[in-house]
Amino acid sequence: MRAEIISIGTEILLGEILDTNAQYIAARLPALGIDLYWMTQVGDNVDRLREALRRAWERSDLILTTGGLGPTEDDLTREAIAATLDEPLSVDSALEAQVRALFASRGIVMPERNVKQAALIASARAIANPHGTAPGWWVEREGRILVAMPGPPAEMERMWEKEVAPRLAKLATGGVIVSRTLKTVGIGEGGVDEMVSPLLGSTNPSVAVYAKADGVHLRITAKAASRDEAQRLIAPMEEQARGILGNAIWGADDETLEAVVGAMLQERGLSVATMESCTGGLLASTITDVAGSSSYFKGGFVAYTAEMKIALGVDEELIRRHGVVSQEVALDMARAARERLGADLGIGVTGVAGPEPLEDKPVGTVHIALDDGRAPQAISYAFAQSRAAIKRRAVTTALALLRRAVLGR
Ligand code: AMP
Ligand code: MG
Repeated sequence: MRAEIISIGTEILLGEILDTNAQYIAARLPALGIDLYWMTQVGDNVDRLREALRRAWERSDLILTTGGLGPTEDDLTREAIAATLDEPLSVDSALEAQVRALFASRGIVMPERNVKQAALIASARAIANPHGTAPGWWVEREGRILVAMPGPPAEMERMWEKEVAPRLAKLATGGVIVSRTLKTVGIGEGGVDEMVSPLLGSTNPSVAVYAKADGVHLRITAKAASRDEAQRLIAPMEEQARGILGNAIWGADDETLEAVVGAMLQERGLSVATMESCTGGLLASTITDVAGSSSYFKGGFVAYTAEMKIALGVDEELIRRHGVVSQEVALDMARAARERLGADLGIGVTGVAGPEPLEDKPVGTVHIALDDGRAPQAISYAFAQSRAAIKRRAVTTALALLRRAVLGR
């Protein structure tokens, strides 16, 4: 099945929004065995939209559009589809009643403009959209399928998951592509690539290495007639990769480092406390992104100035001797956080987020320490990036250090 995505909206062409809808859909087509051949982005202009739809209708079996289903003047997707297929638009009274009821349930009188959202053509069936006022369209004609979904990502994603993907799964028969992602930390991209190089020649499943914000990922991808069969191809390859990378693998697929480390802490009944400087609380924020983190996270300090570090118990003499951006101070911050909050483990983070150097230390210098009251450890590195990236990398490294310390217990 040859598919094509059309993203509709002038905001995309102006660079005001990123076309994440197309990315979302594209990422989900391989698992359905649907080949994506084209992606088009077009503004809210009826002629150009008709042009894009006409070409898609000529060359594709499945056309997936997002956007332009709203009530405003510039939402023209329905009109353009109707014109392209040369079918008249008419308001469906049952659908109109639904849209009116939706407004009533929100305590609003429906503006008359919204009536057009209840319009259909003969070849179209409405697709329910409980999160918004615009129903989608499922159009079938001449052996082709056109699916029009709303622009707001939350509405589009729900419609895709609950309505569109299940219907497409029944139609598509071209085999499926299934991926398994193993996530590592502590080894660089080149290192992982070198270690798994004996696996990289394989074609089905194929193996690829990607550097991501939370470490290096190894993706194993198999193509087969069914999901089960693809999984059978992936399993032995995953086993080999795990044999090579061992403990460097911290999780798989959608798992996050903070959730994995949190589960490890919880399992062992350990608690953690933080004292952060350059990350400004991002570490504590990331740790608490995990539901149930209160069972192992005692709390954290954002000790941005030297005075505050000292007030919280960091040794003034160490700061004077080594500067606030030093491994010694990071270690003492970790100790102070642990002691102050009565935690099993303390983490200290200090560094230079830039853009100006600090204490002659270059931008991107970061010291991260972990204190467990027995054998404190620290990681230091310098990686000049944007402020946001420096902070994110420091958080990932801190979580990796925490994981390493917990694994050793
Ligand atoms: P529309 O239905 O075209 O008026 O789009 C409504 C809103 O949905 C836009 O203002 C965007 O915030 C969002 N949106 C529309 N298209 C996309 C897209 N392709 N990717 C991400 N967000 C989108
Ligand atoms: Mg729009």
